[in-house]
This record gives sequence, C-alpha cells and structure tokens, in this order.
Amino acid sequence: MARHAKAVALISGGLDSMLAARIAMEQGVHVEGINFYTGFCVEGHTHAIRKQDRTRPKRNNALWVAEQLGIKLHIIDIVEPYKEVMLNPKHGYGANLNPCLDCKIFMVAQARQWMADHGFDFIITGEVVGQRPMSQRRDTMPVVATESGAEDRLLRPLCARNLPPTLPEREGWVDRERLYAISGRSRRPQQALAARFGIQDYAQPAGGCCFLTDPNYTTKLRDLWSKRPDRDYELDDIMLLKVGRHLRPRSHFKMIIAREEGESRFLEGYRRRFTHIRTLSHGGPLTLLDGEALCEADLELAARVTARFSQGRDAARVEVELSVLDGESRRFEVSPLPAGEIPQHWYL
Ligand code: SF4
Repeated sequence: MARHAKAVALISGGLDSMLAARIAMEQGVHVEGINFYTGFCVEGHTHAIRKQDRTRPKRNNALWVAEQLGIKLHIIDIVEPYKEVMLNPKHGYGANLNPCLDCKIFMVAQARQWMADHGFDFIITGEVVGQRPMSQRRDTMPVVATESGAEDRLLRPLCARNLPPTLPEREGWVDRERLYAISGRSRRPQQALAARFGIQDYAQPAGGCCFLTDPNYTTKLRDLWSKRPDRDYELDDIMLLKVGRHLRPRSHFKMIIAREEGESRFLEGYRRRFTHIRTLSHGGPLTLLDGEALCEADLELAARVTARFSQGRDAARVEVELSVLDGESRRFEVSPLPAGEIPQHWYL
C-alpha cells in the first residue's frame, strides 16, 4: 500500500468523524481535518455561556478531537456562502429548518476544493448508511458524492463495505478489508470501535451538529424571517436566537431575556444595538428589545415582563433602567407582570 496518500477529513467534533479519521490513520494515511463554521453550529457556544451546562466540558469539540487524533485542524468560516444553502436548499429541509442533504453536499464540495488546492488525494467523512433520515440514506449518499463533485474520492470508512469501492480502495491507498460495514441508527458499533481504539471520552450530540435540527430554534428562526422583508440574516441574528428566552408580546417587537448571569453578560455585548432594560432594585436579567416604533405602553409592558423574570418577581415595585437606542436612559418603577398575564403564545 502506498504510504503517502493524503486525506482531508470532515471533523464535526462527534464520535463518527473522529472514528472515520482514525480508521484511515491506522492504515497509514496522512489525515488533516476540516471543520466548517456555519453560524448555526452547536459547538462551543451556548453551553460555553450558560452555567447550567457546567458539567459539559467547555471546549470546541472539533479542536479537541483533532488534538486527540494528533492531526492538524483547519476551521473554515462559511457563514456567507452557507446562506444560499440555508435559504434555497435544492433538496429541501428536514423535519425542521435543517437542509441536511444540501448542507452535506456543500461541505463535501468545499472539502473537494480544499483537497484540490492543497494536493490531497481524497475526502473522509463519518457518514453511516441509514443513520440520518435525510443525508445518510442509501439513496442520498451517492447524491452527496455526485453533486459535490467528489465522486469516488469520497471515502466513508465506517460504512465503506456497504458501498461500491472508491478510488482510495481501488488504488490501494486504503485496504477495503480493514474498513467497516456499519449501518443503521444504533450507536453500539461505533461505541465498540471507540473502545477498540481506546477512545473513552467523546461528545454525544443529541440532535445533530447544528441548531437547525432543533424545533425550538426553528420556531425562533421562522419568527425572525416572518418579521423581515426577506429571509436574509446576519451572523448576529442567528447567534442571538441561541441565547435567552424569546418572547413576542406584540407583533412589532420581541424581547430577548437572559436566563442567567452568563447570558446577561453575553447580551451586554449587544446593548448598544438594542433598546434594553435591566433591573436595579433586584437582581435580574438584561433584556434586549428587538423591534421598531416602540411606544410608551410597549416599553412599560417590556419593563414589567423583565421585572417578572427578576428576583423582584413577588415585590410590589421593581426599579428598572431603560436605555433606548439613541442613548437616552431613564429609571422608573414598575409592578412585575403577574405570571398568569404572560400567555404561552408569547414564548417563541
Ligand atoms: S445537522 Fe446541520 S450541520 Fe449537520 S448536516 Fe444537517 S444542516 Fe448540516
């Protein structure tokens, strides 16, 4: 077998891509990783902000995986070009606003270009036949290879023996017999393989690699789009959807209310761009108001809702500071809005 084949592995930070890279490395392939940053990634963001997720390691799992494997990782920002994938997916969305098939095609296409630019031979992914309803089905996996332009330079070491031989196998860069034939949704084969490689610690993402598979996030994104003339978005828009409670008490404005200190600190970074409210007499959240033409009644309502989520929720009066977008700040007292007067449909 040639010892100098070079492969670029898509590294998400989860176990499958880690194993896929490891399998190729075991066969002497030089592997480097690529991690694409779309802005919707779960990696190292909200769980790094919130205290409640304290038990989870605050790390970027893709970087951590690369370190465990001892490979170079290239983190590539694709926020701008990814918008087209997100807004107009040719193959449509999954159960939520997740354009998984188009997303996978796009990422493999980007990896293919990287491979060509850097003189690498093939691409590795941690895909498994039948594992995901959209992008990892027997009939859609060839679509990824074809539409990305990667064709048979795309190797999926975890399930390669369920698929026709690829160029790296035919050329002898890897030995097909030492690749795997995993299929389906069970995680047991991957766990067994991890044990075989002595990998004990790995991230176990619940829904997928990004927020687009999350129904709550999808609701907030649909709401954002419904209030705009078009569906275009900036990175900050989609980041803010990951943080805080989002309530829309009136159609023309939304409140983003920090759920804890870490989120308040994060939202502080946005305070110059939003009218915002903080409580003074009691500990409480920072609230951003996202909307236009806010009248006095809107501001009062927002202040009362903010007070409701503060430690003064049972107090008769709570002092708040309101800072409007043009820089003017004022202090006043409000009575916290009773919980029963916050209808469920305000929550996004
Ligand atoms: S879960 Fe998100 S990142 Fe993963 S394939 Fe689907 S859209 Fe892409």
